[in-house]
Amino acid sequence: MIPRTVPTWQIKSWQDELKELIQDPKTLIDRLQLGSEWLEPAIQASAHFPLRLTESYLSRIRPGDPGDPLLLQVLPLGAELIASPDYIDDPLEEHRFTPVPGLVHKYRSRVLLIAATQCAINCRYCFRRHFPYDDHQLSRPEWQQALDYVRSTPEVNEVILSGGDPLSLGDKQLAWLAQQIAGIDHIKRLRIHTRYPIILPSRLTPDLVEAIRHPRLRTLLVMHCNHPQEIDQSVIDGLNTLREGGIQLFNQTVLLKNINDNSRILATLSENLFDAGVLPYYLHLLDKVQGAAHFAVNDADAKTLYGELLTLLPGFLVPRLVRETPHEGSKTPVLPI
Ligand SMILES: *Cc1c(COP(=O)(O)O)cnc(C)c1O
Ligand code: SF4
Repeated sequence: MIPRTVPTWQIKSWQDELKELIQDPKTLIDRLQLGSEWLEPAIQASAHFPLRLTESYLSRIRPGDPGDPLLLQVLPLGAELIASPDYIDDPLEEHRFTPVPGLVHKYRSRVLLIAATQCAINCRYCFRRHFPYDDHQLSRPEWQQALDYVRSTPEVNEVILSGGDPLSLGDKQLAWLAQQIAGIDHIKRLRIHTRYPIILPSRLTPDLVEAIRHPRLRTLLVMHCNHPQEIDQSVIDGLNTLREGGIQLFNQTVLLKNINDNSRILATLSENLFDAGVLPYYLHLLDKVQGAAHFAVNDADAKTLYGELLTLLPGFLVPRLVRETPHEGSKTPVLPI
């Protein structure tokens, strides 16, 4: 038995774990002892958007429970193949805000750099599920072009590494990027949007902290956690490594039907995040991406639930309920009834 105080990065490297991703529907269904009726739809839906998850995430799913809130985020279902009006491939029209390849500049003071095209998990509701990632696989000259854009745009003071998942990049590449970004005078903050703290906590090593920290920048990390069951001791240990390295931690959650559309679950999530040193940031209404309509919580239910959440938590633990609208200069706040 390995004592819990040994960080997971000392046991197995994250690169090793990435080689063992679960990508075959039959493996997932067998490992979780689910009925064979789940297999055919999973095979069909994964032909459109592949199944993908880590062993670490799998270990937090309860076997034999088709309603498990973590399973529902990764299991391909027949419902994904049903076309819904209003649910489209590029709901955020990001292609309109891409001045140079791999860079989205939609909000005045910050740019989003599509730093990596891969994730170690495929969340079925992902708004990037139809994203033309191949067009965005950046070459070195394209990195330079993106950095030149930032350099010549003084109203930008923050660079957000996004993706895919930017922590799919190696530490050397991240360190190079942080160095380049720190070399641009008007940039104050480097922000990383990632799901790795939840899906592969062994990625959170002291070397990573070293790579993304720079004396001239504040480094923030916004993770993505949707349910208290996603947080286990390995996640808490990984987050500690980041926090001890001086990185400020925030969380965003997507409001998902039958997964976390319950004010008590969301209140517990906020409490547990805070215990792990993470501040709740956004609670997102689902983006209308094709194949994800079955995850949507309607506006009226979302507002009622948010009203309840306000009564259950101190103000600093209440995430902002928002939606994203293609033409607005920020996320759009949604107020409770
Ligand atoms: C969400 C988002 C950001 C970050 O927005 P904040 O409100 O600063 O967290 C930046 N750019 C784009 C394109 C986004 O979608
Ligand atoms: S981790 Fe984020 S970007 Fe990757 S599939 Fe999930 S929601 Fe999409």
